[in-house]
Amino acid sequence: MDGPRLELCLSRLAKRPGTDASVVNALSTWLTQSSPFERLRISPHSVAECGNLDVHAVVNAFLLGTQVELFDLSWEVHCPRCNMLTEQFNDLAHAREQSSCPMCEFSFRADLSNQIEVTFSLNRAIEDLGFPPVCSPPAILDPRGNIACPQGQYVSTVVELAQGQYRYFCPLTRSKGVLDVAGIQSEEIQSVTVTQLAGNELAPRALTVRPGRIQVVLHNVGHPISGLWIHTNRLSEDLPLSALKRRLSGLELLHYPIYQRLFGDRVLSARERLQVSSVTIVFTDITGSTRMYEELGDPQAYNLVRDHFEIIQQIFESCGGRLVKTIGDAVMASFLSNRSALRAVDNAQRRLEQYSQSVPNAERLQLRFGMHRGPAIMVNLNGQMDYFGRTVNKAARVQTVARSNELSVSEEVFTDPDFQAECSASFWSDFRKSVEDLKGIGGGQLVYTAQRRAVNATS
Ligand SMILES: [Zn+2]
Repeated sequence: MDGPRLELCLSRLAKRPGTDASVVNALSTWLTQSSPFERLRISPHSVAECGNLDVHAVVNAFLLGTQVELFDLSWEVHCPRCNMLTEQFNDLAHAREQSSCPMCEFSFRADLSNQIEVTFSLNRAIEDLGFPPVCSPPAILDPRGNIACPQGQYVSTVVELAQGQYRYFCPLTRSKGVLDVAGIQSEEIQSVTVTQLAGNELAPRALTVRPGRIQVVLHNVGHPISGLWIHTNRLSEDLPLSALKRRLSGLELLHYPIYQRLFGDRVLSARERLQVSSVTIVFTDITGSTRMYEELGDPQAYNLVRDHFEIIQQIFESCGGRLVKTIGDAVMASFLSNRSALRAVDNAQRRLEQYSQSVPNAERLQLRFGMHRGPAIMVNLNGQMDYFGRTVNKAARVQTVARSNELSVSEEVFTDPDFQAECSASFWSDFRKSVEDLKGIGGGQLVYTAQRRAVNATS
């Protein structure tokens, strides 16, 4: 590692507006105390936990660090079964919906909120280890071994294995074999040798031993470096996210305003799309805009609408939202949770009420809000990352149920305990339930509508 260059880049980062000095110090400590392997793929969550810091501030520092040649940003796709990295790229333009895991021999659709993670590494001018990042198997797979072997050498480890089928593999060279442990318990240490050949070949590809202690010898003849892990080969269900280390998901990153400012022009290729297992979509619309245009005239009304877009964007972003686009007088935004979406709507409505008290009647803006949560597909629409699918359509239709100053939400949102908790903590209550025939969605849809409760000046 080029220490002086690291110091120089850290000092450049510290001078960037919006950087928190305590975060730069924590980064400096983490970077100097970590192992080279850890620095190949740095999760902002690890640094935040280590320094007891807010992860948002840490992510912002990493993002700003990419601008001073301190860090490189990396998109990674994980196999949902074994968690191994199946793809890695530095630009969203290289993302593909379909991925496959050579270890599990299994194809899957990459989900932006579950399988796609964003990590950072030191800029190559500071440190270049010459091999790709690897991801340790999660504890739930009971990994053993973990040895690394330079070319031309032998490295060994002893593991104790019970009856079952295991996988031995090198995540660097993407080679694997299957180890069957069967028969009577062995009192002696058994020894097996696995040879890393060129390409993605481990020899032999299958081994059988008895339960007990096994000395595993890795002989590397094919690569500058090879490693060996052993874990269970009984993988059928997708790994639960709760069993994995906390990640910065691709979907979370897209909700960082700093990311949008720095990398907003990096989008999926035009024909590609990514799954999003769950996202909250909010629509806002100005009610009575026809009257407003009549009374104020087009130029003044347009300015008012533009100003309101800026206010909505600023409030939504401060609550973790991402303004997707404006459509006429309407705004479409996405949120990671129903809770943060309600907080954003609450702040926007409060701000609008304050604003209305300070301007003539004709300039008073009234909004209505609609909210729905569900799966979506992320696409590149006209050079912007946009959502597509039934969740978006339903959110737009749910909004049409609301009148001025009202919020309408779908049943999926209303029954979310987090949404209910946020309602109790804010000024939204007394939702009225209605059964709606939503255009294009169908009849019998439950929609819940409320107004922000009038409160005294202390609100
Ligand atoms: Zn896999």
